[in-house]
Amino acid sequence: MLPFIKALWEPKAIHRLDMAMGTVVTQLVYGKGAREAVEATAKELRRLEKLLSFHDPDSDINKINASAGLKPTSVHPDVISVLNTALRVSELSMGAFDVTVGPLVRLWDFRSPHPTLPDMGDIKAGLALVDYTSIDITAEPPMVSVSNPGQSIDLGGVAKGYVTDRMAQTLGAHGVRSACLNLGGNVLVIGVKPDGKLWEVGLQHPAGEQGKYFAVVRAADKSIVTSGVYERYFEFAGERYHHIIDPRTGWPAESGVISTTIVGESSALADAVATTVLVMGLAHGIELVRRLGLEAVVVTTDSRIYVTDGLTDSIHFVPGLNPSLI
Ligand code: FAD
Ligand code: MG
Repeated sequence: MLPFIKALWEPKAIHRLDMAMGTVVTQLVYGKGAREAVEATAKELRRLEKLLSFHDPDSDINKINASAGLKPTSVHPDVISVLNTALRVSELSMGAFDVTVGPLVRLWDFRSPHPTLPDMGDIKAGLALVDYTSIDITAEPPMVSVSNPGQSIDLGGVAKGYVTDRMAQTLGAHGVRSACLNLGGNVLVIGVKPDGKLWEVGLQHPAGEQGKYFAVVRAADKSIVTSGVYERYFEFAGERYHHIIDPRTGWPAESGVISTTIVGESSALADAVATTVLVMGLAHGIELVRRLGLEAVVVTTDSRIYVTDGLTDSIHFVPGLNPSLI
C-alpha cells in the first residue's frame, strides 16, 4: 500500500491487553505506526517476563537461584540493570527493600488456595538467608552470583516497573509520542494525550473495590506506581496477611502505611520505592522519596492521606477528602 494511503487508514488509537506476570497489562498507543509499536512492545513484555520470573524454572533469575552458593551465572544485561536498581534501593533503605526475600515469600505462599501461617522455625531459617549484600554483580561479561545455598532472588517488588520502562523504550524507538501503559498498577504515560491535555491516572482506593479511585494525578512523561497491602493477601483465623514482607521480622510489614503511590521518571525505581515505603513507614519512607527526588501519595492505617508538596498542582482528590502535605 502507498505510504500516504496507509497513513489515511492508520487507526487513531491501538488498545491491547495481555495477561503477563500474573497481572493484566494494557497498552493504549496513539499515532502513526502504533500497531507495529504495540506488537513489538508485547514481544518485549514476553521476553522480559521469561527472563525475570521467579515462577519460570528457565528464567535467568531461577538459574541464579539454582547456583546460589555454587557459582556465578551468566545473565542477560537486563538482569544486571534491574538488580542495580534493586540494590540501590536496598542500600538507601538499609535493607527494608531486599530482593533476596525469596525464601520468605515462598514460606508465605500467597498463591496457595489454602494458605496457612508459616512455622516460626522456618521463618527464622528464612530470615537468615535474606541479605542483599550477598549478591555480587559483574557488568562485563554480565554475571551474577549469590553467596549462600538456599538464598533466592525474587524481583516481585521491582520487575514490573523495569518491564514498564523497557516497554516504554520500545514504544519510543517506534516513534510513539503519546501512550499509556498499565502493568497492574504500574502506570507510565508517554507525552500528553492526542488532544494535548495531560493524562489522568486514578489512584486506587485502598478500601474500595477495584477501579474505585480516591484521587487523580495529571501527568505527562511520568511513571505513577502504586503498591498496597490490599493487592495480595490471605485471611487466617480472622487476621489478614499481606505480601509485603518486613525483612527484619519475616512477617508482613506493619508500618502503619497501607498504600503508596510514587511519581517519578523511572518506573523501576518508583516500583521499588513504593514497596519500600510500605515497609519503612511514613516518616522514613518520605525521607527516602525526597532523597531520590520523587513524589509520593501515602495512605496510612488510620485513613490519613499524605502528599509531597511537588504534587499539589497535579493531584485532585474526590470531594470530602482532606489530605495533609508532608
Ligand atoms: P509490589 O509492592 O511492587 O511488590 C510486592 C512483591 O515484592 C511481593 O509479592 C514479593 O514478591 C516482593 N517483596 C515482598 N517484600 C519485599 C521486600 N521487603 N523487599 C523486596 N521485595 C519484596 N504472579 C502470579 O500470580 N503468577 C505469575 O506467573 C507471575 N509471574 C511473574 C513474573 C514476573 C517477571 C514478575 C515481576 C511478577 C510475576 N508475578 C506473578 C507477580 C508477583 O508474584 C507479585 O505478586 C507482583 O510482582 C507484586 O507486585 P505488586 O505491584 O502487587 O507489589
Ligand atoms: Mg514495587
